[in-house]
Amino acid sequence: MDERTYAADAEPGVTVTVAGWVHELRDLGGIAFLIVRDTTGRIQVKLEKDEMDADMVDTALDANRESVVRVDGAVEEEPRAPTGVEVVPTGVEVVAEADTQLPLDPSGKVGAELPTRLDNRTLDLRREEAQAIFEIRAEVLRGVRDVFRAHEATEINTPKIVATGTEGGTELFPITYFGEEAFMNQSPQLFKQLMVGSGVERVFEIGPIFRAEEHNTPRHLNEATSIDFESAFYDHTEAMDVCETVVTAAYDAVAENCERELEALGLAEEFEVPSGDFPRLTYEEAIERINATGALDEQLVWGDDLPTEGEHALGQDVGEHYFITDWPADIKPFYIKNHDDDETLSTGFDMMHPRMELVSGGQREHRYDRLIAGFEQQGLDPEQFEYYTKMFRYGMPPHAGWGLGGERLIMTMLGLDNIREGVLFPRDRQRLSP
Ligand code: ATP
Ligand code: MG
Repeated sequence: MDERTYAADAEPGVTVTVAGWVHELRDLGGIAFLIVRDTTGRIQVKLEKDEMDADMVDTALDANRESVVRVDGAVEEEPRAPTGVEVVPTGVEVVAEADTQLPLDPSGKVGAELPTRLDNRTLDLRREEAQAIFEIRAEVLRGVRDVFRAHEATEINTPKIVATGTEGGTELFPITYFGEEAFMNQSPQLFKQLMVGSGVERVFEIGPIFRAEEHNTPRHLNEATSIDFESAFYDHTEAMDVCETVVTAAYDAVAENCERELEALGLAEEFEVPSGDFPRLTYEEAIERINATGALDEQLVWGDDLPTEGEHALGQDVGEHYFITDWPADIKPFYIKNHDDDETLSTGFDMMHPRMELVSGGQREHRYDRLIAGFEQQGLDPEQFEYYTKMFRYGMPPHAGWGLGGERLIMTMLGLDNIREGVLFPRDRQRLSP
């Protein structure tokens, strides 16, 4: 491709080629302004009808909105232009014409419903606000990777096609694997545990998880991005410390490097990095506090899972990120270790944003006999998991870790109403393409 200058880099006094989409054409009679948009912003192109080459002016005036154009010219200072400069063109070329009728208005002036936007995601992403979310998402992932590396964790990639599920059978997507039944993986849980036993000791993975969630909700996807961490010789409290650090680092990265994007989303003023010291409530304290809010018709009792309205009431009460620890052993998965001094209490924890759960984690059961018993208690057949359980007979250190929902982190960080806003091409019960 010929050399080109980004809109944001065009300096007065130089000759440039700019290229991008026709954002707007302002025709004032003798003079017209073509606003060209690229990934860095917008730039004004001045068209003087009586003074410039007539063919060139016509080409520019005839270009439909959202067509891709290339403009050669000299950059001049122009205080009245949106960026303080404008291009005085010597050549205008329409590189790719857009239809006159578009399925949605990429300028965002005419709003569109989420399904229409997702059906036409490429056009939807031409809006600054939509792009900003994905720039921030990229920055979150960079920040998270950096902090994991600073903690000497190794990034791993584990299989997404598996023989067995772990997080509850009804949420599995079955597939056919060379004539045999297989599943899309719900979580890298078992693989990351196998890694800590390998001597690599500390690992993280950022990858897809697949869950056949029964309902469409604003916070569930059928394909989500899980940010997973696991470390040998860690207990649940050390895992929680890393969890705080990682979430805070994600906010820090965005605060430092996404000023323009926060501005585009109207969040520049209110964006706050969390303290990094999240209150740690026990499950017992959590149900007491929920009951005290009076938000539920029926009082919660020991052993109940926390209903969504209960989580909301507690979130409002706490008002910041917080942990819920010491869950009843019965409502946490088999691979979570129970406290040594009280077998009815689990080391499992959840990390919550006031709006919803972001993380589940805990110390893992690394003792072979206990692990097998846990499988049986949960109604799972340990034989099916032999590839996993047998490694617990060959030297498995104590270990702990957690999984953080990547999209839930973005959603809560940016105050998005719907988790799908933070996914390029979401998968839900109604949506399999694009
Ligand atoms: P929830 O109760 O909120 O549905 P969960 O307890 O079933 O979540 P976990 O198995 O604990 O989920 O998964 C760890 C994290 O992964 C969750 O805290 C959440 O952030 C994220 N997550 C799980 N399922 C989904 C999903 N369907 N869509 C988006 N994120 C998810
Ligand atoms: Mg959970």
